[in-house]
Amino acid sequence: MNDTRSRQVVIAGAGVAGLTAALAFAERGYPIKLFEQAPRLEAAGAGIQLSPNATRILGQLGVLDRLLPAAVRPQAVVLRDARTLRELARVPLGEMAEKRWQAPYLVAHRADLQAALMARVADLPGIELVTGARLSGVATAPHGLTATAEIADGTVVAEGFLLIGADGVWSATRALGGFSSRSRFSGELAWRATVRADSAAGKAFAAIAATDCVTTFLHPGFHLVAYPVSKGTAFNLAAFTKGESIAEGWSGNADAKILTGAMRGTAPALVRLVEEAGPWTAWPIHTVDQRQPWTTPDGIALIGDAAHAMTPFAAQGAAMAIEDAATLAGFVAASPADLRGAIAAWESARRPRVAKVARRGAVNRLAWHAAGPVAMARNLFLAMRSSEKLAADLDWLYGWQDVQIESANP
Ligand SMILES: Cc1cc2nc3c(=O)[nH]c(=O)nc-3n(C[C@H](O)[C@H](O)[C@H](O)COP(=O)(O)OP(=O)(O)OC[C@H]3O[C@@H](n4cnc5c(N)ncnc54)[C@H](O)[C@@H]3O)c2cc1C
Repeated sequence: MNDTRSRQVVIAGAGVAGLTAALAFAERGYPIKLFEQAPRLEAAGAGIQLSPNATRILGQLGVLDRLLPAAVRPQAVVLRDARTLRELARVPLGEMAEKRWQAPYLVAHRADLQAALMARVADLPGIELVTGARLSGVATAPHGLTATAEIADGTVVAEGFLLIGADGVWSATRALGGFSSRSRFSGELAWRATVRADSAAGKAFAAIAATDCVTTFLHPGFHLVAYPVSKGTAFNLAAFTKGESIAEGWSGNADAKILTGAMRGTAPALVRLVEEAGPWTAWPIHTVDQRQPWTTPDGIALIGDAAHAMTPFAAQGAAMAIEDAATLAGFVAASPADLRGAIAAWESARRPRVAKVARRGAVNRLAWHAAGPVAMARNLFLAMRSSEKLAADLDWLYGWQDVQIESANP
C-alpha cells in the first residue's frame, strides 16, 4: 500500500454519519474515499431536529454557518394532550437553549442539512465522493483493507487503513465486515407529511399550536410531532403508530387509515389536521441491537444507524451519528500508531452514552403513549415540574461535550 492509501479512510454511505465522518477526518488531514450507493445525494425524510449536542459539533466542523440561513430556531418544545389539546409541558429553547447548552437547538429540512454538509465537503481538500457506488466487498490484510463498490459499469476499489460503515440501518458493511448484528423491525411505523404554511393543513396546524415551536401531541395510540422547516414556510409532521412491517425506506404503500384508526378520541381539530395533511408516507422503524460489536480488530468501525439504529422518540439518531463521527476521528488521530487500540477505546467510550440516549427514547415512548392512570400520573408529574427543571433534566444530553474534540478546537 502506498503512503496516501496507508492514511486513507474509506467510508461507506454519505448520509449524516458518513458526511460528518468525512469532514472530521479530512479536518485532521486524512484523505477520504466516500462511497454512496445513490446516484445523487437525496435526503430521505423531511424534517430533522438538531439538538445542541449535534449543532455544537456542526459548528466546530464549519457546517453550522452554512445551515443557519435555512434552519429555524424553535422557541420551545411543547407537549400537548391529543384529546384536549391542553399544554402539558414546555421546555424553553431559542436563546435560552443557546445560553444553557452553548449551541443552538435547530429544526431544518433534511435537504438543507445535507446541502450544508456537502458545501463544507466541497471546501475541504482530500474528500473524494463517489456516488452510484454500492459497497459490495471488504477484504482485510495485516496492513490495511480493500473495499469494493459496484458502479454502473463495473466495480471500483479503494484501499485504506480504516473502513467506516456509515451505511445506515440496513448496512451492508455489517454483513461484509463479519459483524453479527442485524436490524429488527420495532413494530412501529413512522408517518410523515410536509405541509405549506399557507395551505389548509398549515392553517389547521396554526389553529392548534404555536408555529414557532416543536409540538408533540400525546395519545395512547400514537404521537405526532410538528415543527416549522424551510424558514417557517412549511411544517414537518411526523406521527408514530404500531403497524406491520412494510418495504424498507419511505413509501406510500402503507394505508393512512392505520394512522387515522389510531386516533380514537383525538380532538377534532387535530384529526382535521391529519386529514388535510395527506398524502402520508410511511417508514418501518427498524433498530439495531447496540450491544453487538461496532468495531473489528482489523480496522472496521460502524457508526450511526449502522451500529445502533434506535427508535426516534428522543430525536437523537442523527445527533448520535454526528457524535460518533466526530469522536471516532478524535480517537484515531490521537493514537496514530495504534488503530486497533484507538477504535476499541472509541467504542468503549461511546457505548454508555448511546445506551443512555436509547433508554431515554424508550422512556419517552412509554410516557407519550401512556393511558388511564399512568397518563394521569404523567400529566401530574409534568404539571409539577417547572420549565427550568425540565431543561435541567436534559443537560446530560444536550450539554454533552467531548474532551478530545474540544481540545482539537480550542
Ligand atoms: C421518522 C424519523 C424521524 C427522525 N427524527 C430525527 C430527529 O429529529 N433528530 C435526529 O437526530 N434523528 C432523527 N431520526 C433518526 C435519523 O434519521 C437517523 O438516525 C440518521 O439519519 C442516521 O444517519 P446515518 O448516516 O447513520 O444513516 P442514513 O441516513 O440511513 O444514511 C446511510 C447512507 O448510506 C447509503 N448506503 C446504504 N447502503 C450502502 C452501500 N452498500 N454502499 C454505499 N452507500 C450505502 C444510503 O444511501 C445513505 O445515504 C429520525 C428517524 C426517523 C425514522
